[in-house]
Amino acid sequence: MDKMDKPLVFMDGICPKCGNMCGNRGAGDILRCSCGWSGKMDEKDTKALSELIRRHKERNKEAST
Ligand SMILES: [Zn+2]
Repeated sequence: MDKMDKPLVFMDGICPKCGNMCGNRGAGDILRCSCGWSGKMDEKDTKALSELIRRHKERNKEAST
């Protein structure tokens, strides 16, 4: 059986160190920045992001119909 407990999800966030965009590069929930910072995103940020993705998907759905 496949172990798919960690789905491939791309996340973006703002690095608290340098202010640049950083992401998890499609794996896990640790964000990595080019400046060397890495860390977890705040739960509220994750929530806001998933809400954004949900809205985006709904918009795509509307556009395709
Ligand atoms: Zn940074």
